[in-house]
Amino acid sequence: MGVNQQEIAPSLAEHNNVLGNNILTASLDKLVNWSRSRSLWPMTFGLACCAIEMMAAGAARFDLDRLGVLFRASPRQADVIIIAGTVTHKMMPVIRTVYEQMPEPKYVIAMGACASSGGVFDTYSVLQGIDQELPVDVYVPGCPPRPEGLLYGLIKLQEKIMRERNSFGAAIGAGQVIRG
Ligand code: SF4
Repeated sequence: MGVNQQEIAPSLAEHNNVLGNNILTASLDKLVNWSRSRSLWPMTFGLACCAIEMMAAGAARFDLDRLGVLFRASPRQADVIIIAGTVTHKMMPVIRTVYEQMPEPKYVIAMGACASSGGVFDTYSVLQGIDQELPVDVYVPGCPPRPEGLLYGLIKLQEKIMRERNSFGAAIGAGQVIRG
């Protein structure tokens, strides 16, 4: 049986009226950036006292879930690693392994003075900043930073992702993401 054009026509007209005289345009890069930045999934991973604040940020009072930030138990499902705490040289190979298991594109947040610069631990055993080993996207200052500080850092990361270019091209295998 053929489709009755008279039955379709009113519904199409109704559909077209949803936008009235307005036109919406967006680039595919922006669409990818928007969806990526609103679904940041950090690796469940903590190193020292800063990790307690990170856990508080994820719990009911600060509720990172409302930003689409959901902690994952596997690096294969994570796209952010929050370095929360003191990084010892002994721990660094483990952090690197976890980081390398995360799929691209991936992001690094250095949370607190220890992760950013070694903090008060200017000793032979402590790495003097995770940026010596991993490409850091956002630094969150403090010892420890409060959960609001981490929240702000995540919002800054969202803004940074929104500035990325060729996101759609990279997603279909054409070139690399150009970071903003
Ligand atoms: S920055 Fe302060 S709170 Fe965070 S891990 Fe270092 S000593 Fe602990």
